[in-house]
Amino acid sequence: MKIETIAIHAGNQSDKSTNAVIQPLTLSTTFERGENGDYPGGFIYSRAANPNRKVLENVLAKLEGGIDACAFSSGNAAGMSVFQALEPGSHIICPDDMYHGLRNQLKLMFNGILTFDFIDFTDIELIFNTIKRETKLIWAETPSNPLLKLCDIATVAHIAKEHQLTFVVDNTFASPICQQPLSLGADIVMHSTTKFLNGHSDVSGGALITKEDTEFWQKIKIVQGYGGAIPSPFDCYLVTRGIKTLPYRMRGHVENATKLANFLDNHPAVSEVYYPGLVSHPQHDLAKQQMLSYGGMLSFLLKDGEEKARQVVNGLKIFTQATSLGGVESLIEHRYSVEGPDTKTPKNLLRVSVGLEHIDDLINDLNEVL
Ligand SMILES: *Cc1c(COP(=O)(O)O)cnc(C)c1O
Repeated sequence: MKIETIAIHAGNQSDKSTNAVIQPLTLSTTFERGENGDYPGGFIYSRAANPNRKVLENVLAKLEGGIDACAFSSGNAAGMSVFQALEPGSHIICPDDMYHGLRNQLKLMFNGILTFDFIDFTDIELIFNTIKRETKLIWAETPSNPLLKLCDIATVAHIAKEHQLTFVVDNTFASPICQQPLSLGADIVMHSTTKFLNGHSDVSGGALITKEDTEFWQKIKIVQGYGGAIPSPFDCYLVTRGIKTLPYRMRGHVENATKLANFLDNHPAVSEVYYPGLVSHPQHDLAKQQMLSYGGMLSFLLKDGEEKARQVVNGLKIFTQATSLGGVESLIEHRYSVEGPDTKTPKNLLRVSVGLEHIDDLINDLNEVL
């Protein structure tokens, strides 16, 4: 099946008792046992498994071309479950522009339990040279936030395999419509489903999807089930509903982002635009190789510095000044002031989550304030 069909059908089970076409919401935390003590419905207790979570995990696995998925209550809980599944003393290699929430999680929660190096993931040689005896995991994020730098997934997957390391890719920025890391050799894909997958800025969620059933994956399942950072049935229902339109939403995001990137690239008030689909992107050739389309996220630098950047976000009428991404509405954000003083993000950078409004309105809005 093609991805549009998977998105609609893999996350739905019509109700056999009422013939309801859309799967009902199952709020029950517990499930009745059979006479001999078995579980005829296949469910025991909602933390362990729930019908709405089960279909969400099914559609997530299929969208990424994996064999199994675990859904979590946030993207950070998904990331945390990977780190918790590692033996104490393990070493992780991460990008120096890793999503700041996960970078802070490692620094504030896993310091003394795990060791980690944050390095430039556009430098393959550096990744290779950072591997040591205790290294167990390589964590990549591509395109990265907010500079839209790319990591060569196939090459890093090769290095990881040679050293028997688990290779995880945070695919939140791209979405499975724009990039399929498992098919390029990654072992596990991570998502903040809060973003494009749910797509409507009204659910917090996360997910991990695996290519193979490994010992490490079984540990992650233990962390999910016994750690208990699970999404509610209603959250699963909403994300599953959001996913049904994901392929068509992504087409709109990509089309609008491409047009907006070109507009900004030609604007005299803008000194730099970061979008993998632009020929001027330093890794555009790699983007063409490993991405199916170039996503809905872009960043740009203002020629006149931080002052002008703040003027722009305050003057816009259609774009909302807010963090997060992947919703139908366009958001714009001054990243430096969100990420804190240890960030490498330039002070004159604005990040845009390009929404699904008409492109003429988005361009006019930006044109006025620029
Ligand atoms: C938002 C985000 C996360 C964290 O997800 P939450 O749902 O906010 O916990 C992780 N990685 C990336 C790239 C993100 O954008």
